[in-house]
Amino acid sequence: MTDTLTQEDVELHTGIDPDKLAHYVKRKHIINSVVGGFELEALCGHRFVQKQDPNKLPICRPCKEIYNDPKALASIMQYL
Ligand SMILES: [Zn+2]
Repeated sequence: MTDTLTQEDVELHTGIDPDKLAHYVKRKHIINSVVGGFELEALCGHRFVQKQDPNKLPICRPCKEIYNDPKALASIMQYL
């Protein structure tokens, strides 16, 4: 697989998080999560089940840093 992974492949989502933050997760995982109720793994490594509207919450800083760094994003996405 030599897909080029970009910001297009991730989306902002939230879950049960003590800090009430929105995390970036891989877009294709969201579909699995919605269909199967599976945990999502954020770019920062945080795992959660999606519950809330992410647009109302502050964005997780580690997620945001990875999201804004194309190299870091591409490398981490290979493992998600
Ligand atoms: Zn995060």
